[in-house]
This record gives sequence, C-alpha cells and structure tokens, in this order.
Amino acid sequence: MATRHNHALPRAAKDLLDGALARHGLRGTRHRELIFGSLLARRDHPTAEEVFVRVKAMAPTISLATVYNCLETLVQCGLVRAVNHERDATRYCPNLSEHAHFHDRRTGRIYDVDLPEDVVERLKELLPEGYEADSLELNFHGRSAVKSKETVGAAAASA
Ligand SMILES: [Zn+2]
Repeated sequence: MATRHNHALPRAAKDLLDGALARHGLRGTRHRELIFGSLLARRDHPTAEEVFVRVKAMAPTISLATVYNCLETLVQCGLVRAVNHERDATRYCPNLSEHAHFHDRRTGRIYDVDLPEDVVERLKELLPEGYEADSLELNFHGRSAVKSKETVGAAAASA
C-alpha cells in the first residue's frame, strides 16, 4: 500500500477537514492536516502511537501529545471515529460511511465491514418506542482468513 510522502491533502479532503473544523470554530493547522492525511492514506485503524510514527517522518518536531490532541479534535469534529476494543489502545478510523468493524483476534487487526442502509434501518427498529439513535457501533470479533486487506466487503473502499 502506497503511503503519501508529501504534506498536501487532496483538495476534497482538505475542504472536508476545513469545513468540519470551521463548524467547531477551529482552524486547519499543518499538524491536523498531516494527521488527517495520514489516516486517509493508510486505512488500517492505527493507534495514536502508530500515527505518531507515521507523521514524525514528515514533522520531526511533532510530539505524541500533539498527535493525541489532533486525533481528539478530528473525532470531536466527526471526521474520524475512535474505535475501542476491550483492553486495546484506541484506534482511529476515517471511514465516514456507516460500517461495522471486524476485529481479528489472531492478528489484532481491524477491518471495515460495510453496513447497508437497510440493515442499519432494521437495527434501529430494534430500539424501544421513543428512542432514536444518531450513531451505531457494531463490532464483530473472530478470525479472518484474509491476510492484508484493510476492508471487508464490496463497496467499503469508497468513503
Ligand atoms: Zn473503520
């Protein structure tokens, strides 16, 4: 999988980032762009430490604390999901389409699983009368025969 080595976010991603930050009264900074770009470039649900290692090559002075702060900001702005599995370190996912996660117990890796809209609607129908969900978290745990795919399912790559 190719890793981006320049600092520039693709135009659409930069617009997405700037728009979401602006709605929260925040500005795009080089570090926020770098970290968002790193998550988009390699969608393997990295931990903050892994993100730190990846962006440090491009921003040698960046600190782990800054990486944590930026990730937190991206989560608060709704651009990135924090994924937690039991005792594991929090992982980060930039896939904004409705999806579940598959946690491979053998490798510890996490894959995206597309959730078709009708399935999401069916699940939300399970809620008691008067309850409305604005987000849904669904995690599968098991083993995968897939070695290096970062996504399970057909259309999951388009986010
Ligand atoms: Zn994900």
